[in-house]
Amino acid sequence: MREKLKIIALGGLNEIGKNLTVFEYGNDIIVVDCGLGFPDDDMYGVDIVIPDFTYLIRNKDKIRGIVLTHGHEDHIGALPYLLREVNAPVFATPLTAALIGLKLNEHGLREKTVLEVKKPGDKFKLGCFGIEFIHVNHSIPDTVSIAIKTPIGTVIITGDFKIDTTPVHGDMIDLARLGELGKKGVIALLSDSTNVEKSGYSISERTIGERFDELFDGCNERRTRCFRHTGF
Ligand SMILES: [Zn+2]
Repeated sequence: MREKLKIIALGGLNEIGKNLTVFEYGNDIIVVDCGLGFPDDDMYGVDIVIPDFTYLIRNKDKIRGIVLTHGHEDHIGALPYLLREVNAPVFATPLTAALIGLKLNEHGLREKTVLEVKKPGDKFKLGCFGIEFIHVNHSIPDTVSIAIKTPIGTVIITGDFKIDTTPVHGDMIDLARLGELGKKGVIALLSDSTNVEKSGYSISERTIGERFDELFDGCNERRTRCFRHTGF
């Protein structure tokens, strides 16, 4: 009998943070992102919030790998806490891998963790899943969307992205590749939707540099500006 593809969000839906999506088919599981959440105002004494890993711990022998879309805390921040419980190889682009490396050192997990660097355009297999990294724009470099070729069809998980025609770093989002995959057929598109309810377009990251220049212009020392803004 044909297996079913299971897509399980352990966080990141209807909230900002705790992004973690599980893909399961037969005996194979892959994890996309492993982020932390930020505590609400009423969570006194709580510094970080992590997803509930119970399902992954119960099925740890099935986990073929963890793939990360980018290096923001809400996508990689909970990774050390998962790796304490399960041992699975981790795949990320160069900047994301460097940020993860710091966390692994901090948590004493560097020795036992396989961390592999992949670039946009790279394709690799994890169990029955074929993984492809696709370059996208975001407020941090080296961000990718991920195409997952499953036995029943292709799924795309965008991660955080924007369409920035004048990116600060690297090329524009690889719309051509996304279009190609779309033409071949995609059974599910899991798209980031932060701010989707706001109409209009996102401004280019390049405009942020201009704003920084305005803010820092005439500022001779760090404390001066800090004091003025915090009201101390
Ligand atoms: Zn992000």
